[in-house]
Amino acid sequence: MIEALLKRYDLERLAVATIASHTALQILRAAKGRGFRTLAVARPSSAWFYRRFQFIDEVWEADLSNFRPVAERLAENNAVLIPHGSYVEYVGWRQALEAPVPTFGVRRLVEIEADQHRKMDLLRRAGIPTPKTYSPKDAEGPVIVKLFGAKGGRGYFFAKNREELLERLKGVDGPHIIQEYVFGVPAYYHYFASPIYGRVELFGMDVRYEANVDGRTFGLAEPTFVVVANFPLVLRESLLPAVQKYGEAFADAVREALGEEMKGPYSLESIIRDDLSIVVFEFSGRIVAGTNVYMGVGSPYSVLYFDRPMDMGERIAHELELARDRGRLEDVVS
Ligand code: AMP
Repeated sequence: MIEALLKRYDLERLAVATIASHTALQILRAAKGRGFRTLAVARPSSAWFYRRFQFIDEVWEADLSNFRPVAERLAENNAVLIPHGSYVEYVGWRQALEAPVPTFGVRRLVEIEADQHRKMDLLRRAGIPTPKTYSPKDAEGPVIVKLFGAKGGRGYFFAKNREELLERLKGVDGPHIIQEYVFGVPAYYHYFASPIYGRVELFGMDVRYEANVDGRTFGLAEPTFVVVANFPLVLRESLLPAVQKYGEAFADAVREALGEEMKGPYSLESIIRDDLSIVVFEFSGRIVAGTNVYMGVGSPYSVLYFDRPMDMGERIAHELELARDRGRLEDVVS
């Protein structure tokens, strides 16, 4: 379907589109800088804000709960849609999977991400260390329980031991996963898989600022992990080979599981223990909001590939430009 759509595209008028939230400013600023037309699809409440920026050629207001007509209009406008976390949240993974518009990256990952068990399976298949998963009877030590579809860590809870877990599970109905709670510091890695250069780039990293774990709660509130902001991060250089290895292993696992090359931005989300081992508890198959920390200035790691700082929006626009010019657009979208 997507190849047929692309054949009808006027490549002189190729547009970059995204949903107006999350990383839209980063994505569209960079796309405009590379000479693409830029489109933002906004919920009515925030359209006015995106109209403040000259690098966005058109801001459309739309009801994202019915995405098909929007996708059709995007395709009529020769647009490549750049998906991000808020897109998946607003339109839902089923609509994201079926939207009739070329979508940057591997869109089938949204289906795997919607199921915590399948998500962890893919990471394990890649040989990446992950937290232990328990059933209620065999849980040991502190655990974190995650309800499927929980956002920003709301809908997660902890238990110190099996007894507390069994007590707290009484109030839970609906799919969830029980995981070992890993002690250490969080670190989130940003990768870019490039079909054009044939490599996985370790592009940047961040750490999040989360409401009730980083906030001044004085032990009076339950911990929540609602992401409010992000900080840039650089790691000890001795950790980088492991981070690169896991990034490449993830791309290999996607190829094996889906029969499709990994492409575009993605992220692995980890805890680093005090013995410097890395445990990955989550992945994101598309651009993560933590890349915004490098908007306009570029990440320190990006210079290793291009000898100039780039942000992730610029990296996406660069890949799209090369793919278009080499007749390889179908290799970077799905
Ligand atoms: P998530 O919504 O999956 O990104 O998780 C929210 C936060 O929970 C993360 O930023 C981590 O700090 C924490 N977290 C998730 N899973 C684990 C785990 N298995 N062990 C320790 N911390 C975790």
